[in-house]
Amino acid sequence: MENAPDIHGKILEGISVLITGGTTGIGRATALLLAEHGAKILFFGRHEKELNDVTEEFTKNALEDKVMGVIADVSRKDDIDFIFQQADGFLGQLNVLVNNASLGYKSIMEGNYDDWQYILQVNLLGYMACTHEAVKRMKDKNGGHIINIGSMSADIREKGSSVYVATKAGIQGFSEALRKEVNPLGIKVTLIEPGAVGTNMQPGSSEDHREKTKEMEMLKAEDIAQCVLYVLTQPKRCDVVEVKIRPHLQLI
Ligand code: NAP
Repeated sequence: MENAPDIHGKILEGISVLITGGTTGIGRATALLLAEHGAKILFFGRHEKELNDVTEEFTKNALEDKVMGVIADVSRKDDIDFIFQQADGFLGQLNVLVNNASLGYKSIMEGNYDDWQYILQVNLLGYMACTHEAVKRMKDKNGGHIINIGSMSADIREKGSSVYVATKAGIQGFSEALRKEVNPLGIKVTLIEPGAVGTNMQPGSSEDHREKTKEMEMLKAEDIAQCVLYVLTQPKRCDVVEVKIRPHLQLI
């Protein structure tokens, strides 16, 4: 794209996107928005019910030909191999990877070695392994774009969430160095670091989230999806390196 485009219509026609997670929250909103703009989407999660719910929503919106959802756990090497086999088949080419699947976690004072290992495998190793597979495919084509969903926790580093903070700070460092490694291959890297978003990851009911959104203390998953659409639709010369997006009144 030569100049900043009008982000309406099927602006992503011909673009293939893999979203890790994607059955709920930010990944789901992003899958829907990008598909509405013409992208072809592969997404996954571990739970069948949520996968079926989002698949139904795609069908309701007449987008079922554009999307495929599979059950997979990003902590497992075999599942990652399976996902990329599906990507090669369904998407053909891979233009965009959105690393999004993560789990919240508390302090290192809680849980045990196996718990922490699982969180690291999902939140950090999952991003790295999917990036490795994506770059292998993108570098032989005409480049691509990797979007890492991090968190403002990487900067805020609040107590009571040291394990989650460690993974999101890791994603921050990973994204910065990765950009320097893959930019010469024509691959863009964007780190998006949201504040509080009303998804399953946040405590409280949907009603609580709606109330906090009204009070401007919480974002909607759709706000982050719009951010993904924005970064994907900038001219080739223009890298959106990092976006910090917070609720207007989350004053930390
Ligand atoms: P969410 O609604 O819980 O979504 C997480 C998604 O990841 C779900 O689709 C979940 O599906 C999937 N997932 C989790 N573990 C997985 C695994 N092992 N393998 C495959 N898929 C897995 O939460 P969200 O808020 O949208 O989170 C999305 C991203 O935003 C995360 O990176 C999170 O750190 C970041 N973020 C969120 C907030 C917030 O306030 N919500 C703030 C800052 C950053 P299954 O459970 O079915 O596997």
